[in-house]
Amino acid sequence: ARNNPHQPEFLQAVTEVMETLWPFIEKNPRYADQALLERLVEPERVVMFRVCWTDDHGQVQVNKGYRIQHSMAIGPYKGGLRFHPSVTLSVLKFLAFEQTFKNALTTLPMGGGKGGSDFDPKGKSPAEVMRFCQAFASELFRHVGADTDVPAGDIGVGGREVGYIAGMVKKLSNRADCVLTGKGLAFGGSLIRPEATGYGCVYFAQEMLKTRGRGFEGLRVSVSGSGNVAQYSVEKAMELGAKVITVSDSSGTIIDEEGFTPEKLAILMEVKNRLYGRVSDYAARTGVKFEAGVRPWHVPVDVALPSATQNELDDNDALTLIRNGVLCVAEGANMPCTNEAAKTFEKAGVLYAPGKASNAGGVATSGLEMSQNAIRLSWSREEVDAKLLGIMQNIHGVCVEHGKRADGSVSYIAGANIAGFAKVADAMMAQGVI
Ligand code: NDP
Repeated sequence: ARNNPHQPEFLQAVTEVMETLWPFIEKNPRYADQALLERLVEPERVVMFRVCWTDDHGQVQVNKGYRIQHSMAIGPYKGGLRFHPSVTLSVLKFLAFEQTFKNALTTLPMGGGKGGSDFDPKGKSPAEVMRFCQAFASELFRHVGADTDVPAGDIGVGGREVGYIAGMVKKLSNRADCVLTGKGLAFGGSLIRPEATGYGCVYFAQEMLKTRGRGFEGLRVSVSGSGNVAQYSVEKAMELGAKVITVSDSSGTIIDEEGFTPEKLAILMEVKNRLYGRVSDYAARTGVKFEAGVRPWHVPVDVALPSATQNELDDNDALTLIRNGVLCVAEGANMPCTNEAAKTFEKAGVLYAPGKASNAGGVATSGLEMSQNAIRLSWSREEVDAKLLGIMQNIHGVCVEHGKRADGSVSYIAGANIAGFAKVADAMMAQGVI
C-alpha cells in the first residue's frame, strides 16, 4: 500500500490473490524465492500519454491514455482497452494484474496487459469517437505489435472502436500484423469473438451447476450490464433453457418476470449497439419494467451473472441473493463482487466463480484470433465455439483440481488463483531474474 498510494482497486485485486495464495506458498516455499511475489505485483512497464483531439465544436479536448504491460512471461502482453470516465491508473493496474493470471489459465501463449483512457464515449458523435480513437492510436502504435502487445476491446471499446484503432495503428506502422483482437470479420476478426465472453461465462456456470447435478433448464437468471458480455450471456443462458429476468446499466435495471426472448434480445442489441441508447430506451420500446437507480441483486434468482463493472455487488447484495436462494454466481465482469461479497458467497456454500476463471473465454478466443491471423486462415463458427467450450471446461477442471478443500467442496477463488499463479511463476523462474 505504501508503494501504491491511492490505488484502491489495484490493492484490492492483489490482496484477493495473495490471501488465497498464502497457504499454497507456505507449502511450496520456492515460489517466494528471488523476490518472485514482489516482481509479480510490479507491472513490467506502464505507459501514460496525452491524447489530444478536436470535438465537433472545434474545441481541443485532452484526455489521459494508458497502456499497462504487466507481464510478458508467457507471451505478448494481451488485454483490452477501456474507455470510461472512471478509468484511472489503479483500475487499469488491477485489470492488467488479473489479466496475467486469467491468460495463463487459458493455456494459450499470452502475457497480461490492459489499457485505455478516461474518455467518455457517451454523448459523443460518431465522428468524435473516430477522431478520439485515431488520436489514441497515434501514440499507442509505438508500444504494440503482434509479438509485443496485442490489445482488444473492453468497456466502451467495441467493434467500431477496435476498427478505428487497428486502422490507425496499421497506417502508422505500415504493417498488417495482428495488432488488435476483436476486429471485424472483414479485416481479420474471428467468428464467435463477440459472443465469447458471455458464452464462455455461461459455459463455465454450466460446469459448476453440473457438480450439483443441475443444468440451466428452468432456472431464473439475473444479468447485470447490457453491453457485450451481458448480451451474449443472456443469449446463451436463454438457449440453455433459463429464464433471464434482468439486465441493467449505470442508470437502472430492467426487471422482466416473463423472461427474455430472442425477439426482446434483438431489440436490446439494436438499442445498445446501433443506437448507443440506454436500457430505459429498451424499456420504452418493449413496455417491460425499468427501475431507475437500482441494481439487479434484490430480484430472487437461482443464478447471478454480474457483467457490468468492478465492485457492483457488495456484501449486502450477496446476503440478499443468498437469502433469496441463489445457487451459483459466475462473474462476467472483472471483479464485480467486492472481496467481502465473494467470501460471503463461499461461506454460504454458493457456487462462486471469480472473473479470471469464468470470463476468460473472451481473451481465449482473442488468442484463437491471433492464431488464425498468424496462419492466415479463418476457422468456422462451430470450430471456434467448440474450442471455446473445451477451454472453459478445462479451466473449470483446473479450478476444481487446485481449489478442492478437505471436505470435498471447491473454492473456485483458490483454484483459479493457484493454477494461474503457478503457471506464471514457473515461467518467470525459468527465465531468470529479469
Ligand atoms: P460494454 O461497454 O459493452 O458494457 C459495459 C456495461 O457495464 C454497460 O451496460 C455499462 O452501462 C455498464 N457499466 C460500465 N461502467 C459502469 C459503472 N461504473 N457503473 C454501472 N454500470 C457500468 O463492456 P463489456 O460488456 O465489454 O464489459 C463488461 C465487463 O466485462 C467489464 O468488467 C469488462 O472488463 C469485462 N470483460 C469484458 C470482456 C470482453 O470480451 N468484452 C472480456 C472479459 C471481461 P453504462 O452504459 O450505463 O455505462
